Amino acid sequence: MQNTQLRDILNEAREQIENAANRSETEEARVRFLGKKGRLTEILRSMGTLDPEERKALGKLANDARAEIEGMLTRKFEKVKAAEHALRFSAEAVDVTEPGAPLRIGAKHPITRTIEAISRIFMRMGFSVTEGPEVETVFNNFDALNAAPNHPSRELTDTFYITEDTLLRTQTSPVQVRTLLSQAPPIKVISPGRCFRVDTADATHSPMFHQVEGLLVDEDVSMSDLKGTLDVFAKQMFGEDVKTRFRPHFFPFTEPIAEMDMSCFKCGGRGCRVCKGGGWIEVLGCGMVHPNVLRVGGVDTERHTGFAFGMGVERIAMLRHGIDDIRLFYENDMRFIEQFG
Ligand SMILES: [Zn+2]
Repeated sequence: MQNTQLRDILNEAREQIENAANRSETEEARVRFLGKKGRLTEILRSMGTLDPEERKALGKLANDARAEIEGMLTRKFEKVKAAEHALRFSAEAVDVTEPGAPLRIGAKHPITRTIEAISRIFMRMGFSVTEGPEVETVFNNFDALNAAPNHPSRELTDTFYITEDTLLRTQTSPVQVRTLLSQAPPIKVISPGRCFRVDTADATHSPMFHQVEGLLVDEDVSMSDLKGTLDVFAKQMFGEDVKTRFRPHFFPFTEPIAEMDMSCFKCGGRGCRVCKGGGWIEVLGCGMVHPNVLRVGGVDTERHTGFAFGMGVERIAMLRHGIDDIRLFYENDMRFIEQFG
């Protein structure tokens, strides 16, 4: 009697496993026939009432049936799994021939590039790079730099004052003061950053612009160290052939004070549009640091001297790349910015 039952179970199992459409239906079939309450398990459980001979014979048949069902299930599981994979692959297939969405790649701003180029030259000469805040105290921006209380640069019309004691720095020179207050000589730093002055934007002026400040304080620093350092800078920035010259000028915080010109890198000094025919180009302001400025930082002026310089980054970038309107730097037109990559 169980014999017939086993055959029926086998047939049913074969049919159901055959018809299972997916993994969960195959699993249902497994539970139905081989699970704890499955059909085959029930038969095996009922064998306790049989006599030993019968039990042995039926036991063998039942185990054979079980092995057969297990085999069918294994094959079926493999088949549905493969089918599912194939389905997923075709659903997730990518058409590699379809054109991609264009990705706009940015470019480093020419001002950033110029600051990096300037910094690299001075770093090779042993300077380190330091930065200061854009909102400064009136003390750091003017007083500590030896600017007389009635100096014209303090005028409300030139300076963005925030309160009576704070302002948007008009130059990077306050970083000199911060450095002198926080470090003892030897000091060898440059400091790039943004500066602000009340100015109407035109081809050569902008209320926001960039400077790089430099400061060197050590024993026996002289004007010739200053000239040598800045000459190396001019040659590395604009070409080995450029010559430099220093003209006296007035800045309150350096003494003696000078402006550095270089021979025109475009025409070699013969005169052209870049140098406006003169053969020389004004590059930066510089000078020995006024003892009053050094004293603010507690520097022993008997022992230490120093020089400082400051240059306009926009000016350097305009010279290097032949740009004739400063406003181009701030319009963020990618067609302009991408040219410097
Ligand atoms: Zn020239």
